[in-house]
Amino acid sequence: MINASGLGIGMTSQRTRDRMVNRLREQGIHDPRVLAVMRTTPRHLFVEEALASRAYEDTALPIGFGQTISRPYIVARMSELVLEEHRPGKVLEVGTGSGYQAAILAQLVSRVYTVERIGPLFEKAGRLLHEVGFKNIHFRLSDGAWGWLEEKPFDTIVLTAAPEDVPSELLTQLAPGGRLIAPVGPPGNQHLMVIHKEGGRYRQSVIEPVSFVPLRPGLES
Ligand code: SAH
Repeated sequence: MINASGLGIGMTSQRTRDRMVNRLREQGIHDPRVLAVMRTTPRHLFVEEALASRAYEDTALPIGFGQTISRPYIVARMSELVLEEHRPGKVLEVGTGSGYQAAILAQLVSRVYTVERIGPLFEKAGRLLHEVGFKNIHFRLSDGAWGWLEEKPFDTIVLTAAPEDVPSELLTQLAPGGRLIAPVGPPGNQHLMVIHKEGGRYRQSVIEPVSFVPLRPGLES
C-alpha cells in the first residue's frame, strides 16, 4: 500500500518503529492489524523535518497552526476501537491534521473520508498522502462538525479534535449500527467516548481520559 521508495525511509526508522510497536504492546494495544500498520507506516514523514528524530516517541508533536499530531498510543487506541466490532467500510475522520491517522485507517478499512478546517494543513496532508500512494483517502476542506453530507452514511466517524458536545449532525450521518469515536469535553477534562447508533437510539461508553486540541468552528486559511 505504501510506496516508500525515494522518501528516505532507512533502517534506523524501521528499528525505531519496532521499538514504538513494542511500547504500544506494553501499553495494552493488542490488535495485530493495528500493530502491523504502525510498524510499517513512516510516521516521521508526517512531522516537520526538524522533529523527525522525535517522530516515534510517545508524544504529541506540533504540526503548525497550534495543532498537534496525536501520540502513537492514541492513534493506535482509536484505530483499535474502529476495528473492534467489525471492519468498517466507510470511515469519516474529522481533523486531518498531519494525515497520519488517516494513513493508518486507510490501511485498515475500505475508504477514508477526512475533513480539515485549516487550509495549509489540508493541502500538505493531501499532497503527502498522494505522494505516498494512497488511493482510498478522500479529502475535504470544511468544518467537520457538518460531516460530509454527500457521502453519508458512514460506518464509523472518528473525531481527532474534541467538541464539548458531540455535533448532532454527525450522529445523523452514521449508518444504522454505526459508531462515533470521539474525545469529548473541555480542555483538561476530556474523555474518549464511543457512541453506538442502535435503531433510533444512541448508547454511549466512556473509554479513558484523553487530551486533544479543541474542535473549532468555521474555516481558517
Ligand atoms: N488526525 C490528526 C490529528 C490532528 S489535530 C493527525 O493524525 O495528525 C486535530 C485537527 O483537527 C487539527 O488539524 C485541527 O485543525 C482540526 N480541526 C479542529 N476543528 C475542526 C473542524 N471543525 N473541522 C475539521 N477539522 C478540525
